[in-house]
Amino acid sequence: MLYKSTRNSSIRVESAAAIAKGISEEGGLFVPETIPSISMDELKALAGKTYAQRAAYIFAKYLTDFTEAELAYCTESAYTAKSFDTENIAEIAHLFDGTYLLELWHGPTCAFKDMALQILPYFLTTAVKKLQMDKKVVILVATSGDTGKAALEGFCDVPGTEIMVFYPVEGVSDMQKRQMVTQEGGNVTVCAVQGNFDDCQNGVKKIFTDETVLSALEKGGMTFSSANSINWGRLVPQIVYYVSAYVSLAESGEIAYGDKLNVVVPTGNFGNILAAYYAKQMGVPIGKLICASNINKVLTDFIRTGVYDRNRQFYATVSPSMDILISSNLERLLYLLTDGDDAQIREWFTALNESGRYEVSDAVKAKLTELFYGGFCDDTATKATIAEIYEKVGYTCDTHTAVAVKVYEDYRKETGDTTKTIIASTASPYKFSASVLEALNKKPEGNVDEYDMVEILHEVSSLTIPASLAALKTKARRFEGSIEKADMQKFVLQKLHLA
Ligand SMILES: *Cc1c(COP(=O)(O)O)cnc(C)c1O
Repeated sequence: MLYKSTRNSSIRVESAAAIAKGISEEGGLFVPETIPSISMDELKALAGKTYAQRAAYIFAKYLTDFTEAELAYCTESAYTAKSFDTENIAEIAHLFDGTYLLELWHGPTCAFKDMALQILPYFLTTAVKKLQMDKKVVILVATSGDTGKAALEGFCDVPGTEIMVFYPVEGVSDMQKRQMVTQEGGNVTVCAVQGNFDDCQNGVKKIFTDETVLSALEKGGMTFSSANSINWGRLVPQIVYYVSAYVSLAESGEIAYGDKLNVVVPTGNFGNILAAYYAKQMGVPIGKLICASNINKVLTDFIRTGVYDRNRQFYATVSPSMDILISSNLERLLYLLTDGDDAQIREWFTALNESGRYEVSDAVKAKLTELFYGGFCDDTATKATIAEIYEKVGYTCDTHTAVAVKVYEDYRKETGDTTKTIIASTASPYKFSASVLEALNKKPEGNVDEYDMVEILHEVSSLTIPASLAALKTKARRFEGSIEKADMQKFVLQKLHLA
């Protein structure tokens, strides 16, 4: 299996190179040449297997240049009960009749990013070895809060790597900030940027392709890679949990093999929902893909009208990991929906870069609306949904998951579709204690810190406090201050001792 760039289909590399590079040199994203299939018999055979075994089975279809032993090493190292607080790695909770939550936050940083970022360092170091690159890999990360910590945790003290994380100074929750600025490890840097997530992401993308930076890096014996979901090594692990969830639901008799299952995903950079699309294209009987946004609803508008327009007000919401106006992974979807028309992709994404807007063809619009439903809700509705779920079924969910539940309720009302449905639950409520408590009308007045709130949330929800979050309380803050967005490049060169 080879990987093509969305902006130049003649570029073809093996998966190890796609993962090591992160992004193609002309700015395109790597996609597999074809989508491998999985049959109903194969799905049935995955029942009774561990998560790591299921993962290795799926990876063998995509990462064909990795040996079976290499894949076993990667999956068995990443998906263990040492890092995750459950043997199952992901859990499925029953929400309402025929509606399930896929809890993807049982990893070390309590957000779904761990599902991919626990394994990416193993993929990457294996890839670098296979390619005999003999260079230090510098991982640059732009984060809206969760990717940063998950990447830091995954790459902490991994030999031959250095990781730098940029986050928007006002754009993350107190707990997210604390998780990042207390990060241990000799190869890590965390930096606050005076701007929003899109500024961080644009800054990182620019540094990745800047000639002067690249030649300085080359001289210093280093190379860049990405831990953002533009890296195929981030995306492919996410396909696994959709396949695995289908198998688990069938195994427990909630659905029969062959039954359709709708999938709802709280969406930002479009990585998670794109993985669900891949699972569907592989042959997992997935019905509608429901894309849930907060008030930064650029994707809802896009799915409904075919016009992508980022020229709009940016809002900081209670679901900060979805506060994004440029969803990078849409490029991969559009490449697939245009049957690999790289010239068309270049045109649209140049327009996005220059004017902040593009409009897809009628043919693509038709495919989009057939596959996807787009919906959004604001902070008031998000909080009301947290309260509603808590009162109805005694389940405490985080703000991002609540957006998905609300959009799913709207979808059901609008369409009458009663197909069984799984909703991606992307973070532990403890990461967003303040907003969750506010939603439940339990937030204390006055000056309380994030740990007081964790304690109160514990009383309210009776959920176990994740050990990794509890441990942060006494850890020293290592990274203070912030930089201007124009200074990101200088910052990187200085930190790497290249300037
Ligand atoms: C990253 C994140 C999202 C958005 O996922 P994408 O793959 O970027 O669409 C949603 N919820 C949480 C909690 C996240 O951390």
